[in-house]
Amino acid sequence: MSKKDLKNRKTLLYTIKKLSKLAKDFSTKKNNEKIFVCKKCGKANHLEDLKKNLFICSQCSSYFPLTGIDRFDMLLDKGYRVIDYNSKKTNPINFPNYRNKKEDEKTEAVKIARGKILGNSVLVASLINTYMLGSLGTYVGEEITKMIEEAEKKQLPIVIISLSGGARMQEGIFSLMQMAKISSALYSFGEKGGLYISLLTNPTMGGVSASFAAQGDYNIGEPGALIGFAGPRVIKETLREKIPDNFQKAENLENFGFLDMIIERKNQREIIGKILRMHRSKYGRL
Ligand SMILES: [Zn+2]
Repeated sequence: MSKKDLKNRKTLLYTIKKLSKLAKDFSTKKNNEKIFVCKKCGKANHLEDLKKNLFICSQCSSYFPLTGIDRFDMLLDKGYRVIDYNSKKTNPINFPNYRNKKEDEKTEAVKIARGKILGNSVLVASLINTYMLGSLGTYVGEEITKMIEEAEKKQLPIVIISLSGGARMQEGIFSLMQMAKISSALYSFGEKGGLYISLLTNPTMGGVSASFAAQGDYNIGEPGALIGFAGPRVIKETLREKIPDNFQKAENLENFGFLDMIIERKNQREIIGKILRMHRSKYGRL
Protein backbone atom coordinates (compact mmCIF):
# COMPACT_ATOMS: atom_id res chain seq x y z
CA MET A 1 0.00 0.00 0.00
CA SER A 2 1.42 3.41 -1.00
CA LYS A 3 1.84 6.25 1.46
CA LYS A 4 -0.99 8.18 -0.23
CA ASP A 5 -3.39 5.22 0.02
CA LEU A 6 -2.50 4.78 3.67
CA LYS A 7 -3.21 8.45 4.33
CA ASN A 8 -6.58 8.25 2.51
CA ARG A 9 -7.49 5.15 4.50
CA LYS A 10 -6.60 6.86 7.74
CA THR A 11 -8.75 9.88 6.85
CA LEU A 12 -11.66 7.60 5.90
CA LEU A 13 -11.41 5.62 9.13
CA TYR A 14 -11.27 8.83 11.13
CA THR A 15 -14.41 10.17 9.38
CA ILE A 16 -16.32 6.90 9.97
CA LYS A 17 -15.30 6.90 13.61
CA LYS A 18 -16.39 10.49 14.02
CA LEU A 19 -19.72 9.93 12.24
CA SER A 20 -20.53 6.80 14.25
CA LYS A 21 -19.78 8.69 17.44
CA LEU A 22 -22.09 11.48 16.34
CA ALA A 23 -24.82 8.99 15.45
CA LYS A 24 -24.48 7.46 18.91
CA ASP A 25 -24.80 10.87 20.52
CA PHE A 26 -27.76 11.80 18.37
CA SER A 27 -29.51 8.51 19.21
CA THR A 28 -30.10 9.80 22.71
CA LYS A 29 -31.88 12.86 21.32
CA LYS A 30 -35.20 13.55 22.95
CA ASN A 31 -38.13 15.16 21.17
CA ASN A 32 -37.58 18.82 20.18
CA GLU A 33 -34.30 18.96 22.02
CA LYS A 34 -31.72 21.25 20.45
CA ILE A 35 -28.29 19.78 19.86
CA PHE A 36 -25.06 21.62 19.04
CA VAL A 37 -22.12 19.76 17.55
CA CYS A 38 -18.66 20.91 18.64
CA LYS A 39 -16.62 21.95 15.60
CA LYS A 40 -13.37 20.96 17.28
CA CYS A 41 -14.08 17.46 18.59
CA GLY A 42 -17.44 16.53 17.03
CA LYS A 43 -19.17 15.96 20.37
CA ALA A 44 -22.93 16.59 20.28
CA ASN A 45 -23.90 18.80 23.21
CA HIS A 46 -27.51 19.22 24.34
CA LEU A 47 -28.65 22.81 24.71
CA GLU A 48 -29.66 22.34 28.35
CA ASP A 49 -26.25 20.84 29.22
CA LEU A 50 -24.49 23.62 27.32
CA LYS A 51 -26.42 26.26 29.24
CA LYS A 52 -25.42 24.69 32.55
CA ASN A 53 -21.80 24.50 31.35
CA LEU A 54 -21.63 28.20 30.21
CA PHE A 55 -21.71 27.07 26.54
CA ILE A 56 -18.42 25.18 26.81
CA CYS A 57 -18.00 21.75 25.16
CA SER A 58 -18.10 19.07 27.86
CA GLN A 59 -15.51 16.96 26.01
CA CYS A 60 -12.79 19.28 24.72
CA SER A 61 -13.59 22.51 26.66
CA SER A 62 -13.76 24.64 23.51
CA TYR A 63 -16.05 27.68 23.66
CA PHE A 64 -19.36 27.89 21.81
CA PRO A 65 -20.61 31.40 20.94
CA LEU A 66 -22.40 32.99 23.89
CA THR A 67 -24.40 36.14 23.13
CA GLY A 68 -27.48 38.16 23.98
CA ILE A 69 -29.73 36.95 26.77
CA ASP A 70 -27.55 33.93 27.60
CA ARG A 71 -24.56 36.26 27.97
CA PHE A 72 -26.55 38.66 30.17
CA ASP A 73 -27.74 35.75 32.33
CA MET A 74 -24.13 34.72 32.88
CA LEU A 75 -22.69 38.18 33.52
CA LEU A 76 -25.40 40.26 35.16
CA ASP A 77 -27.22 40.08 38.49
CA LYS A 78 -30.83 38.92 38.35
CA GLY A 79 -33.37 41.64 37.55
CA TYR A 80 -31.53 43.29 34.61
CA ARG A 81 -33.62 44.86 31.84
CA VAL A 82 -33.13 44.36 28.09
CA ILE A 83 -33.55 47.74 26.42
CA ASP A 84 -33.36 49.31 22.96
CA TYR A 85 -33.27 52.85 21.61
CA ASN A 86 -35.68 52.31 18.68
CA SER A 87 -33.01 52.84 16.02
CA LYS A 88 -34.19 52.37 12.44
CA LYS A 89 -33.46 49.21 10.49
CA THR A 90 -32.69 50.60 7.05
CA ASN A 91 -31.20 49.45 3.75
CA PRO A 92 -29.09 52.55 2.99
CA ILE A 93 -27.64 51.46 -0.38
CA ASN A 94 -30.67 49.39 -1.46
CA PHE A 95 -28.69 46.17 -1.37
CA PRO A 96 -30.72 43.41 -3.07
CA ASN A 97 -32.40 40.82 -0.81
CA TYR A 98 -31.32 42.64 2.35
CA ARG A 99 -33.90 43.65 4.97
CA ASN A 100 -36.56 41.45 3.43
CA LYS A 101 -36.46 38.98 6.22
CA LYS A 102 -39.29 38.70 8.70
CA GLU A 103 -36.76 38.24 11.49
CA ASP A 104 -35.67 41.87 10.98
CA GLU A 105 -38.79 42.95 12.81
CA LYS A 106 -37.83 41.06 15.94
CA THR A 107 -34.07 41.08 16.03
CA GLU A 108 -30.78 42.60 14.87
CA ALA A 109 -27.12 42.01 15.59
CA VAL A 110 -26.97 43.65 19.04
CA LYS A 111 -28.78 43.42 22.37
CA ILE A 112 -28.39 45.89 25.21
CA ALA A 113 -29.10 45.46 28.90
CA ARG A 114 -29.25 47.84 31.83
CA GLY A 115 -28.42 46.15 35.12
CA LYS A 116 -25.81 45.35 37.72
CA ILE A 117 -22.76 43.11 38.00
CA LEU A 118 -22.12 42.11 41.64
CA GLY A 119 -24.18 45.13 42.68
CA ASN A 120 -22.37 47.61 40.38
CA SER A 121 -24.66 49.44 37.93
CA VAL A 122 -23.64 49.05 34.29
CA LEU A 123 -24.85 49.17 30.67
CA VAL A 124 -23.92 46.09 28.62
CA ALA A 125 -24.08 45.58 24.84
CA SER A 126 -23.69 42.11 23.33
CA LEU A 127 -23.30 41.46 19.59
CA ILE A 128 -25.44 38.59 18.28
CA ASN A 129 -23.61 36.12 16.03
CA THR A 130 -26.80 34.44 14.75
CA TYR A 131 -27.85 37.62 12.94
CA MET A 132 -25.49 38.18 9.96
CA LEU A 133 -22.53 37.10 12.13
CA GLY A 134 -22.84 40.05 14.49
CA SER A 135 -21.84 42.43 11.72
CA LEU A 136 -21.66 46.18 12.30
CA GLY A 137 -24.42 48.00 10.41
CA THR A 138 -26.24 51.30 10.96
CA TYR A 139 -28.69 49.79 13.50
CA VAL A 140 -25.88 48.29 15.59
CA GLY A 141 -23.85 51.50 15.33
CA GLU A 142 -26.79 53.67 16.41
CA GLU A 143 -27.78 51.45 19.33
CA ILE A 144 -24.24 51.21 20.72
CA THR A 145 -23.69 54.98 20.28
CA LYS A 146 -26.94 55.77 22.08
CA MET A 147 -25.96 53.40 24.89
CA ILE A 148 -22.59 55.19 25.28
CA GLU A 149 -24.39 58.56 25.30
CA GLU A 150 -26.80 57.36 27.99
CA ALA A 151 -23.85 56.06 30.02
CA GLU A 152 -22.09 59.42 29.69
CA LYS A 153 -25.20 61.28 30.80
CA LYS A 154 -25.93 59.01 33.76
CA GLN A 155 -22.26 58.41 34.64
CA LEU A 156 -22.47 54.65 34.28
CA PRO A 157 -19.66 52.30 33.21
CA ILE A 158 -20.14 50.19 30.06
CA VAL A 159 -19.24 46.70 28.88
CA ILE A 160 -19.32 45.77 25.16
CA ILE A 161 -19.08 42.08 24.27
CA SER A 162 -17.80 41.70 20.72
CA LEU A 163 -18.51 38.68 18.53
CA SER A 164 -18.49 39.83 14.95
CA GLY A 165 -17.36 39.14 11.39
CA GLY A 166 -16.72 42.89 10.97
CA ALA A 167 -18.44 45.71 9.09
CA ARG A 168 -21.67 44.76 7.24
CA MET A 169 -20.88 44.82 3.53
CA GLN A 170 -24.57 45.09 2.61
CA GLU A 171 -24.51 48.66 3.94
CA GLY A 172 -21.30 49.78 2.17
CA ILE A 173 -19.74 53.01 3.40
CA PHE A 174 -22.58 53.54 5.93
CA SER A 175 -21.36 50.48 7.78
CA LEU A 176 -17.77 51.80 7.89
CA MET A 177 -19.03 55.15 9.21
CA GLN A 178 -20.29 53.37 12.34
CA MET A 179 -16.69 52.64 13.32
CA ALA A 180 -15.94 56.39 13.49
CA LYS A 181 -19.28 57.20 15.13
CA ILE A 182 -18.86 54.71 17.98
CA SER A 183 -15.17 55.60 18.41
CA SER A 184 -15.97 59.29 18.70
CA ALA A 185 -18.76 58.61 21.26
CA LEU A 186 -16.25 56.50 23.23
CA TYR A 187 -13.70 59.30 23.10
CA SER A 188 -16.13 61.81 24.59
CA PHE A 189 -17.23 59.22 27.20
CA GLY A 190 -13.61 58.48 28.14
CA GLU A 191 -12.67 62.17 28.32
CA LYS A 192 -15.28 62.62 31.04
CA GLY A 193 -13.85 59.71 32.98
CA GLY A 194 -16.19 56.96 31.78
CA LEU A 195 -15.04 53.36 32.27
CA TYR A 196 -15.29 51.04 29.25
CA ILE A 197 -14.58 47.30 29.49
CA SER A 198 -14.28 45.52 26.14
CA LEU A 199 -14.74 41.75 26.10
CA LEU A 200 -13.48 40.21 22.85
CA THR A 201 -14.89 36.77 22.08
CA ASN A 202 -14.49 34.33 19.20
CA PRO A 203 -14.44 35.74 16.52
CA THR A 204 -13.83 39.50 16.70
CA MET A 205 -12.77 40.53 13.21
CA GLY A 206 -12.66 43.34 10.65
CA GLY A 207 -14.11 46.77 11.39
CA VAL A 208 -15.20 45.76 14.91
CA SER A 209 -11.69 44.70 15.96
CA ALA A 210 -10.32 47.83 14.26
CA SER A 211 -12.55 50.19 16.21
CA PHE A 212 -14.50 49.91 19.47
CA ALA A 213 -13.46 46.36 20.43
CA ALA A 214 -9.85 47.52 20.76
CA GLN A 215 -10.63 50.78 22.56
CA GLY A 216 -11.50 49.51 26.02
CA ASP A 217 -9.87 50.83 29.17
CA TYR A 218 -9.66 47.09 29.77
CA ASN A 219 -9.44 44.83 26.71
CA ILE A 220 -10.28 41.33 27.88
CA GLY A 221 -10.18 38.24 25.67
CA GLU A 222 -11.85 34.83 25.95
CA PRO A 223 -9.51 31.79 25.77
CA GLY A 224 -8.78 30.70 22.20
CA ALA A 225 -10.70 33.59 20.59
CA LEU A 226 -9.75 34.57 17.04
CA ILE A 227 -9.15 38.32 16.99
CA GLY A 228 -7.85 40.20 13.98
CA PHE A 229 -8.63 42.27 10.90
CA ALA A 230 -8.46 40.02 7.81
CA GLY A 231 -8.93 36.30 8.53
CA PRO A 232 -5.93 33.93 8.60
CA ARG A 233 -7.02 32.18 5.38
CA VAL A 234 -7.10 35.47 3.44
CA ILE A 235 -3.68 36.48 4.79
CA LYS A 236 -2.25 33.06 3.98
CA GLU A 237 -3.50 33.18 0.41
CA THR A 238 -2.34 36.77 -0.11
CA LEU A 239 1.15 36.35 1.35
CA ARG A 240 1.53 32.72 0.25
CA GLU A 241 3.35 32.02 3.46
CA LYS A 242 2.85 29.57 6.29
CA ILE A 243 1.04 31.16 9.21
CA PRO A 244 1.83 30.10 12.80
CA ASP A 245 -0.85 28.04 14.61
CA ASN A 246 -1.41 30.65 17.29
CA PHE A 247 -1.77 33.48 14.73
CA GLN A 248 -4.52 35.96 15.78
CA LYS A 249 -5.32 33.86 18.86
CA ALA A 250 -6.16 35.69 22.10
CA GLU A 251 -3.22 34.09 23.95
CA ASN A 252 -0.76 35.37 21.35
CA LEU A 253 -2.33 38.83 21.34
CA GLU A 254 -1.98 38.99 25.12
CA ASN A 255 1.76 38.30 24.75
CA PHE A 256 2.05 41.23 22.35
CA GLY A 257 0.09 43.53 24.69
CA PHE A 258 -2.99 43.92 22.49
CA LEU A 259 -5.10 42.33 25.25
CA ASP A 260 -4.74 43.18 28.91
CA MET A 261 -5.86 39.77 30.10
CA ILE A 262 -7.64 36.55 29.17
CA ILE A 263 -10.43 35.42 31.48
CA GLU A 264 -12.21 32.08 31.44
CA ARG A 265 -16.00 32.29 31.28
CA LYS A 266 -16.49 30.91 34.77
CA ASN A 267 -14.46 33.81 36.23
CA GLN A 268 -15.70 36.67 34.05
CA ARG A 269 -18.60 37.81 36.23
CA GLU A 270 -16.46 37.97 39.34
CA ILE A 271 -13.45 39.70 37.76
CA ILE A 272 -15.48 42.24 35.74
CA GLY A 273 -17.56 42.91 38.88
CA LYS A 274 -14.33 43.56 40.83
CA ILE A 275 -12.99 45.92 38.14
CA LEU A 276 -16.29 47.87 38.27
CA ARG A 277 -16.11 48.04 42.06
CA MET A 278 -12.50 49.21 41.91
CA HIS A 279 -13.52 52.21 39.77
CA ARG A 280 -16.79 52.82 41.56
CA SER A 281 -15.66 55.79 43.66
CA LYS A 282 -14.75 57.82 40.58
CA TYR A 283 -17.37 56.83 38.04
CA GLY A 284 -20.46 54.70 37.86
CA ARG A 285 -21.67 55.34 41.40
CA LEU A 286 -25.42 55.39 41.73
ZN1 LIG B 1 -15.60 19.75 21.78
